[in-house]
Amino acid sequence: MNQPATQTLSTVDDMRQTLRRISHLKGRQPDAQSLQEVRALVSAFDRRDLLIEHLHVLNDTYRGLYERHLVALAHDMKLPMAEVFEVATFYHHFEVLPNDAKPAALTVRVCDGLSCEMGGAKQLLAKLPSLLGGDVRVVSAPCVGRCEQAPVAVVHHNAVPHATPDKVAAAVSAQAIQPVLPDYVDMAAYVADGGYALAASLASAADLGNAKADAVLQAMEASGLRGLGGAGFPAGRKWRIVREQAAPRVMAVNIDEGEPGTFKDRTYLERDPHRFLEGMLVAAQVVGIDAIYIYLRDEYHGCRELLQQALAALQANPPCALPHIELRRGAGAYVCGEESAMIESIEGKRGEPRMRPPYIAQVGLFGKPTLEHNFETLYWVRDIMQKGPQWFTSFGANGRVGLRSFSVSGRVKQPGVKLAPAGITVQALIDDYCGGMLDGHTLYAYLPGGASGGILPARLNNVPLDFDTLQEHGCFIGSAAVVVLSQHDTARDAALNAMQFFAHESCGQCTPCRVGTAKAVQLMQAPKWDNATLEDLNQVMVDASICGLGQAAPNPVRCVQTYFPHEVA
Ligand code: SF4
Repeated sequence: MNQPATQTLSTVDDMRQTLRRISHLKGRQPDAQSLQEVRALVSAFDRRDLLIEHLHVLNDTYRGLYERHLVALAHDMKLPMAEVFEVATFYHHFEVLPNDAKPAALTVRVCDGLSCEMGGAKQLLAKLPSLLGGDVRVVSAPCVGRCEQAPVAVVHHNAVPHATPDKVAAAVSAQAIQPVLPDYVDMAAYVADGGYALAASLASAADLGNAKADAVLQAMEASGLRGLGGAGFPAGRKWRIVREQAAPRVMAVNIDEGEPGTFKDRTYLERDPHRFLEGMLVAAQVVGIDAIYIYLRDEYHGCRELLQQALAALQANPPCALPHIELRRGAGAYVCGEESAMIESIEGKRGEPRMRPPYIAQVGLFGKPTLEHNFETLYWVRDIMQKGPQWFTSFGANGRVGLRSFSVSGRVKQPGVKLAPAGITVQALIDDYCGGMLDGHTLYAYLPGGASGGILPARLNNVPLDFDTLQEHGCFIGSAAVVVLSQHDTARDAALNAMQFFAHESCGQCTPCRVGTAKAVQLMQAPKWDNATLEDLNQVMVDASICGLGQAAPNPVRCVQTYFPHEVA
């Protein structure tokens, strides 16, 4: 039967309206309230590279990232929703929440890195939830960079050193949200001690023929200072390589000190931030840098406040023309300590390491030639220039040259950062710098280079600790994070802790690392190890992983197989 004409028209209109509504709703559309809330907190929507900074503001304000806010942010930044979502879900410190979720009033993080585990982190994690009540979320966290204070909990971004259940409960009750800053050498004190005279004495950054800049470069090369983030590339040579690239050039400073056991950068930053900033300015002047991006790990909350103060003081009274400087906030991802992953993160993306070539010295941050430096490398520039490169080379032990800052933790009486000659042995480090082993403990094993640097037995307590001295033993020094184990510990537990960390931190980009670390954890939990299968995994990870995380992950496993086979037989 034919429909009346008016009814047919009405149906067509309805269909059109429905289709219009559906097409309008294609994808996820922001609601007015969410747009308003995002716009109240965030600006600079046209800066794609600030995506992570914007996510931090939302995450801090709402104790998580509501999906509706991500939709609104994607809308205003003119980014695909998937791009915002994939960044938000990559970093451990962001929590993406369904729109109807009610986040916990407070999250307490307990570090479960090796030193904290040895110090009782597991017991702390077991006791805290019932003690703190249901509205406080207690989670484990990868190394927070305070291994000398183990075990450590973090409440309101403030660390609770040598944490006990009562201390954590007191910190929760105190509601102290602002970070507690340490006493540090401020700008006035630094300048009064001759600080920034070197930076002031150097002329135009871009003048490659500048004699003073050339002299600085030669002194840096003569000092033999190597990159102290772990890779050990000669600093002076790096300056020369980047300087030879076409302008504009940029600098990226790595303070993402995430290697478990490492806390030297934080220690120095908390004491003397301007010494680092001056080294940074000198490098910028000599190499001809237009812009500097400082990438600070999110776990160093107090350091960010401190560094912001130091930068403000510097910018208020600059000793020379300053390049553009931005302080960027990491978001909880160990892999961002890898230079190309850090660059991705500064660009506001997932911190996935890049394939090389091209090397970042040629094509780096924002596609520009990039001078990448660890914090500590820059920290020593002023001393080397003012005391002379021979001052630095006058130190050394067992045929090695220079100074190293060892982060020592574990079963020693006085853990902490120990500035000692390169090439010192672990025995001398323990005896002469750490007050010896803890009472009732004897040296059983040690990690010479954090979680990824391998594990050595006590009988190798006479090996010089430096770049290039540990490879023959299946280890490397990396960032010089020494974790000391005693007869009350096992190397297999240390290796398992390290592999669990790698599995947690793998960026997932390549299968050997993503699957290999997770599979290795399973195998390493068996009372008796399947060494053939583990070695198969080891080899694939070493041969086929893109970056150092996957390539070094087998080191602790192989060391247990080589030096401690009785523990896993
Ligand atoms: Fe990512 Fe691991 Fe591959 Fe590195 S080795 S790129 S961390 S998956």
